[in-house]
Amino acid sequence: MASDRRDQAVRAAVEQGLLTETEPVTALLDVAGIRASAAALRAVFQEITDAPVLHAFAVKATPLVPVLRLLHEEGIGAEVASPGELALARAAGVPPGRTVFDSPAKTHAELHAALTLGIAVNADNPQELARIDALVQAMPPGNVRSPIGLRVNAQIGAGAIGALSTATATSKFGLALRDEGARDRVVRACLDRPWLTRLHTHSGSQGLPLGLLTQGVRAVYELAEEINAAAGRQQIDTLDIGGGLPVNFASDEETPTFADYARLLSREVPGLFDGRYGLVTEFGRSLLAKHGTLLARVEYTKSAGSRPIAVTHAGAQVATRTVYNPASWPLRIVAYDAKGRPRTGQDIVQDIAGPACFAGDLLAEARGLPRLEQGDVVAVLDTGAYYFTNHYAYNSLARPAVHGFRTGPDGVAFATVRDAQTVDEIVAESGGAHSEALL
Ligand SMILES: *Cc1c(COP(=O)(O)O)cnc(C)c1O
Repeated sequence: MASDRRDQAVRAAVEQGLLTETEPVTALLDVAGIRASAAALRAVFQEITDAPVLHAFAVKATPLVPVLRLLHEEGIGAEVASPGELALARAAGVPPGRTVFDSPAKTHAELHAALTLGIAVNADNPQELARIDALVQAMPPGNVRSPIGLRVNAQIGAGAIGALSTATATSKFGLALRDEGARDRVVRACLDRPWLTRLHTHSGSQGLPLGLLTQGVRAVYELAEEINAAAGRQQIDTLDIGGGLPVNFASDEETPTFADYARLLSREVPGLFDGRYGLVTEFGRSLLAKHGTLLARVEYTKSAGSRPIAVTHAGAQVATRTVYNPASWPLRIVAYDAKGRPRTGQDIVQDIAGPACFAGDLLAEARGLPRLEQGDVVAVLDTGAYYFTNHYAYNSLARPAVHGFRTGPDGVAFATVRDAQTVDEIVAESGGAHSEALL
C-alpha cells in the first residue's frame, strides 16, 4: 500500500541521512507508484479502443528528466510547452514521434524547430496557423512529418479553480469555438489546409468535474465529425483530448480513476473509441501527484496568540499554490518524530509554517496534528506534481533534492533524481558573474 511504502521511505530517508543541516527539506518519489499509474492509464485505453493512443505526459507537472525517462519506459510520451520542456523530453530520450508541442506563445523559431524534428504541434490561434502555413510552404513537399492540430476552446465554463480553467468564454487558450462565426471559420481553416489533421482540447486542470471535461471532449469530437463530413474524407484523424483529471488531495484513495473517466467518455462520446480516431491524452497531475512526498525538518516550535506553531523548512518555495491559495490547495501533512517514526498522540491545533519571510508562508493553518517537536519531520503528501518540482525562488531558498525510492526485502533504496541546488549555484543564477555590471 502506498501509505506503508511512504512510512518505510520516511524512516529510511531519516536513517540514511537524506535530511541534513544543509538540506533540511528534501523530496521523495515512489517509483512503484509512478509505474502503477502509467500502467493503469495505458491498460484502460487499450481495453476501450483499438485505435492508436499516445499518452503524452504534461511535462510541466513534473519536469524531471529521470521521471520522463521512467514514463517513456512505461510507454508514455511527453507534452511540452516551452523550449526547456522540449529539451527535458529529448534528454530523457522521448522521440519526436511521441512528443506533442502545445503553448499559447510559440515563437517562429520554436515552430520551425518542432516541424523540422517532426514533433506534433497544436496551433493555438489563427496567427499561429498563418506562421505554420508559411513554414509548411517553405518545406519540400512531403517533408512535413509533424502531425498538426488546432486547439479549440469549447467554452464550456469554469471548474472550482478559476486560474486552472481553460475553457471559459474568455480563456486565453485555443480558438474560441462558440464566438460569433468561429465554428465556420474553424471548418474553413481545416478545409483550406489538408495537412491539418488533428483537433486538440484541454478544458482545465484540478477542480474540473469529469462531466465538464467530457463535455469539452464531446465538443471537439462533434467538430471533427462536421469537418470530416464537409471534407468528404477523414481529414481529422486524431483527437487530442488533453489532460486535467483531478486528483484527490484528501486521502490516499486515488479517485477519480482513469477508468472512471474513460467509462464516462465512452458513454457520452461513444464515437470517440470506435477506432476511427487516433487519440492523444495529456495527463499530468493525475499520473504523478500521489507519488511525491516532501519531507521537511521542524527547526523550531513556538507559540503565538496561544496558537502552537511548528516552523519547518517547507513553505512557499516548494508549495507555492498552497501558500498563496490555501482554500483551493489544501495538502495533507503527516507528523514523524526525529527518527522518522510516525508520531502518535492526541491531535492539537497548530500552524505548520515555512521558512520564508512573509506571514502567509504557512503549509497549514490551525491543523490538528500530534504536537510537533523540534527536530521532528513533517511529510507533505501528494506533492509529486506542481509542488517541489515547480520551485519558486523566494528568499533565495534552494531547490531541494529529489530522490526516487523503491521498497524491497532489503529495505528502501534511494536514487538521486535531482541534486539540491547549492548556494554557489544560487549566486551564479543571480548574476554572480556580473557583480559589477551596475557600477
Ligand atoms: C497543464 C496541461 C495539461 C496537464 O494538465 P493536468 O491537470 O496536470 O493533467 C495538459 N495539456 C495542456 C495543454 C496543459 O496546459
